[in-house]
Amino acid sequence: MGSDCLFCRIVAGEIPATIVRETDTTLAFRDISPKAPVHVLVIPKEHYADVATLGQGDPGLAGELLAAAAVVAEDEGLLGDGYRLMFNTGAYGGQEVFHVHAHVLGGAPLGPMICR
Ligand code: AMP
Ligand code: ZN
Repeated sequence: MGSDCLFCRIVAGEIPATIVRETDTTLAFRDISPKAPVHVLVIPKEHYADVATLGQGDPGLAGELLAAAAVVAEDEGLLGDGYRLMFNTGAYGGQEVFHVHAHVLGGAPLGPMICR
């Protein structure tokens, strides 16, 4: 994907981000517009458009992404009170950046899963 994708550009170091964790295959950085006291995005370095494409295309990498998100949640102090792990997928899911990312949200009660 590369230059057309915002998160590929963050992986390439072309766009700055506040990185909180990096592995060989994943990167975690703070959301630029946080929706909770803790709001970290966890992505695979390799480009997949969404969680369905990733899960079917490379289940091992999907597992590494989940493991990285769990470490981020622990490092951010979220294990005691809990947190939300969210993958917006497609237009109705509210996905805006089409490079799969897990939202790690916590640090305060997050309310109902969906506001109607
Ligand atoms: P989604 O709606 O699930 O695709 O989420 C995209 C997220 O990316 C939003 O929460 C944005 O605030 C976040 N975002 C957009 N641009 C950046 C950026 N340059 N650095 C960090 N987070 C970003
Ligand atoms: Zn990408």
